Amino acid sequence: MIKKLIPDYVFKSIYDIDFNKLYNDGIRLILSDLDNTLISYKQKEPYEVLFKWKKNLEDMGFEFIIVSNSRKERVTNFANKFNVKCNKFSTKPLKRGIKRAIKKLASKKYNNNEIILIGDQLMTDILGAKRSKIKAGLVYPVDIKTEPKTTRFNRKMEQFFLNRIKKKKSDIYNMYLKEFDELND
Ligand SMILES: [Mg+2]
Repeated sequence: MIKKLIPDYVFKSIYDIDFNKLYNDGIRLILSDLDNTLISYKQKEPYEVLFKWKKNLEDMGFEFIIVSNSRKERVTNFANKFNVKCNKFSTKPLKRGIKRAIKKLASKKYNNNEIILIGDQLMTDILGAKRSKIKAGLVYPVDIKTEPKTTRFNRKMEQFFLNRIKKKKSDIYNMYLKEFDELND
């Protein structure tokens, strides 16, 4: 189980993602969580810097799709304004929504090793990516203080597994996850 919770990449925010590295690693399709990955739970609209960020990755040759667990209109509204495709109510860590984005929404066929899912939660985004056999990129949450109940519950589970990773894979923990873990304190 804990193997499936260890991301392939860890970034402090979406703005710290090294897209050159991802491109050189063969990634071409970026699936992204919405809440606390692209924007906080309180934000609704894409903003100028975020548009630039997206334009840059599209110019580099990546395709970008939002894969959110939220079932709210907010997701569709955001995606429309941001001019990207989205799959809402994705039920991560189940594979369903992720697979739909890959098979139905993507503009062409990608191999699994060309796809990454980035998100801020181990229990949904990272586990979902690993179960779907694609790459997993963890980003630190945009604003942990405004998380709703369901996410706070996920964080409790996440904490339990972070403690296990700390114990069983301390080298990986110290290198990639320690700082992320300490955000919860
Ligand atoms: Mg999230």
